[in-house]
Formats: sequence, structure tokens, C-alpha cells
Amino acid sequence: MEVLATPAAMRAWRRARGGTVGFVPTMGYLHEGHLALVRRSVAENDATVASIFVNPTQFGPGEDFERYPRDEVRDLALLEDAGVAAVYLPVAADIYPPGFQTYVTVEDVSRRLEGEARPGHFRGVATVVLKLFNGVEPDRAYFGRKDAQQLRVVRRMARDLDLPVEIVPCDIVREPDGLALSSRNVYLTPEQRAAAPVLSRALLQARSRFADGERDASVLRETVRSIVLTQSRGTPEYISLADDETLAEVSGKVEGPAVLSLVVRFGQTRLLDNIELSPPNP
Ligand code: AMP
Repeated sequence: MEVLATPAAMRAWRRARGGTVGFVPTMGYLHEGHLALVRRSVAENDATVASIFVNPTQFGPGEDFERYPRDEVRDLALLEDAGVAAVYLPVAADIYPPGFQTYVTVEDVSRRLEGEARPGHFRGVATVVLKLFNGVEPDRAYFGRKDAQQLRVVRRMARDLDLPVEIVPCDIVREPDGLALSSRNVYLTPEQRAAAPVLSRALLQARSRFADGERDASVLRETVRSIVLTQSRGTPEYISLADDETLAEVSGKVEGPAVLSLVVRFGQTRLLDNIELSPPNP
């Protein structure tokens, strides 16, 4: 496995290589969720590149950029075991050289939900993803459904800018009790960790009402809210039932593919989860 530290080294590696390349961008501190993306890429491409880059421009002031968990030695061993051909490990000074002033803004789909809670977040995400794509030139790039809005922002950018890459969505990997794996779960106290499966429990309950025929978006959102409020001490920040592609909030009835998502705050830690709802075809 090669470790490439600069955009120029990354590009040279790619140019010297035939066949298809799959790409898995990450911020490191890897867990089974990341590794599921990597394994899928390894299975579907001639070679897989993973990147580890804690991207400063997607963190707001007062967020956890400085204390974001890092463990490069362990990450590299996990990636090598999983069959990755190259790891792209750039430093911020190479991604954002002095005088840097060009950003990508994906408009509507970035605005609500996480975009509202974290102004500038998706501008940072879209910009770094495009720059990473320019270094790696992947045929396919793998993104987790865990970050539902990020996936839709990246997909929109790829379409709008004619990027020659297929965006492949991958299912959420969960702990046995339902908590979606996240590098940030290490921030939870034991009591918060014990309460955290309430997010997936609430989503599953709403999905089961949906499967039983409930189509009223506000009833489905309320189902989630009341479970979070009665079964935990977490504070719901938002509960959204939105169009699957545009993330425009559904008012009235759910008539097409939709995504039900929520953020619950436990102390300083924001936990995110979501589930997709698709009405059966008539
Ligand atoms: P991150 O390191 O948090 O930026 O995540 C890197 C990639 O892994 C993103 O595409 C995430 O959506 C994906 N990912 C993170 N957690 C999970 C999970 N529990 N299941 C599936 N994919 C995940």
C-alpha cells in the first residue's frame, strides 16, 4: 500500500495506473462504517484509494476541528488489511495553499438541516471533495447514507459539474443496538451512549407506521419526536421528512421517495441519523 502526501504525488500515481479506481474519502479514526465502503470499493474496482483528511473548511468556529479524534497508525493498518492500494494523506497547506479563494457552493440542497445548523459546512465539503476527486480521478466514489445530506450535495455537484465519477451510496453500518457508527461516538459519556439508540428506535417506529400506511408527514415527524422526548434526555435539534433528492421538506402527504432524518443533542455532542422511506409503486 502506498501513502501519498501531495496532490502531485496522488495524481502521478493515478496517471501511472490503468484500470478502474474506486475512492473512499474519510476524515480518519476509522470504524466498520468506513471499512464497509472500502470493502465495497475493493470488490468493485481494480484498485481502491482511501483518503484521510480532517478538512478544516467544513468545521465552523467553536466546532471540534482541534479535538476531532485521530489515529493515523491504526487507520493505515486497517486500510492495508482491507486491500487498499493507496492512501491519500494530504496536509491542509497543500489543499489550501496561501491565497486560496475558490469554493464550490451547491445551493438549495445545502441550505437546510445540517447547512442551517452548520453555516459553511457543505461549502467546505463540496470544495474538498472536488479537490480530492481532482487528485484521485476516481471512476467511482463511495459515500455513506449515514451523512444523508452530504451524499445528496455531492451527487448534485457531480451532476451539475459533469464530474466523470459515479457516486455510490452505501448503507449505514450500526452497532448491534442500532446506534449508527460514527467517529464522534467516542465523545459520548456512558449514560449518553446508553441512551443513543433512541434515534434509530424512533426512526424504525416511524418507518413501521409508514409501512402500515401512515402517509401524513407531520404525524411521522411527531412519532419520532415523541419517542426521543419520552425515551431519552436528548434534545431534538431537528426532525425532518424531506424529498429524497432535493431535501425540500414534505408538507402534507408523503407521495414519493423521502428521507426521514434527525439530529439529537446529548450535551455537546450532536448525533445524526436517518432512514429512507419509499412508497411502493402503484
Ligand atoms: P467521515 O470520516 O465521518 O467523514 O466519513 C467518511 C465516509 O464514511 C462518509 O461517506 C460517511 O458517510 C461514511 N460513514 C461514516 N459512518 C458511517 C456508517 N456508520 N455507515 C456507513 N457509512 C458511514
